[in-house]
Amino acid sequence: MIEIQNVRKSFGALEVLKGIDLTVQNGEVLTIIGGSGSGKSTLLTCINGLEPIDSGRILVDGTEVHARSTDLNELRQKIGIVFQQWNAFPHLTVLENVMLAPRKVKGMSKPEAEAMAVKQLEHVGLGDKLSVYPSRLSGGQQQRMAIARALAMSPKYMLFDEVTSALDPMLVGEVLDTLRLLASEGMTMICVTHEMKFAREVSDRVAFFHQGVMAEIAPPAELFGAPKSPDLQKFLAATA
Ligand code: ATP
Ligand code: MG
Repeated sequence: MIEIQNVRKSFGALEVLKGIDLTVQNGEVLTIIGGSGSGKSTLLTCINGLEPIDSGRILVDGTEVHARSTDLNELRQKIGIVFQQWNAFPHLTVLENVMLAPRKVKGMSKPEAEAMAVKQLEHVGLGDKLSVYPSRLSGGQQQRMAIARALAMSPKYMLFDEVTSALDPMLVGEVLDTLRLLASEGMTMICVTHEMKFAREVSDRVAFFHQGVMAEIAPPAELFGAPKSPDLQKFLAATA
């Protein structure tokens, strides 16, 4: 379970998260929607401890992410994160790229890491690209490689930050299908997305962020069907 309790965060004079309260249950798929600059990415980077917070608490399975005593390296093994773009090591094959973290961070043996990497690459539909170099992959395939790379660490939670926004529209579907597959397998996920159809179909709940505030959170039928706040109504009208 991920518990976010009254989290505030500023960059200089700009308050980006204005007291966020949110609990994500195990097995839940939460999507976060909202305008540019509303604090979505910042929240994700706070959850895995990449960014400090000013006040409040974030607990992952009861461990306080920003407590001094918390071993962030250990905690991060539980939390896979995939961004818009991930720069793979160009001189390593797809398989070698995916094997890297299990080898280095988890200290897996080479055969063990290789078996895990093959398994996860097959899982995302890249079983035929193991020995290819990343530059030879399409954008959608590169994103699926990034997902396989995160999955190779056997995370309990996955955070996705607009993983399809840099893609050619033709390639968006294959990446969303991979996210759908993970959701159907019961992975606990937080997905920041601009894909409203995806959010509607896959989420257990959808959260709408507006200017650093979680303005609304509800199951998709309710949030999209009967948006309460004028800001959400405006946002949905603009994205329709
Ligand atoms: P988008 O949809 O465009 O990705 P977002 O909701 O993810 O937006 P954030 O990236 O969380 O928004 O940014 C929230 C605000 O914080 C923005 O105004 C941004 O300029 C600012 N910000 C983010 N990171 C930093 C940083 N490292 N230093 C200073 N300001 C930052
Ligand atoms: Mg963002």
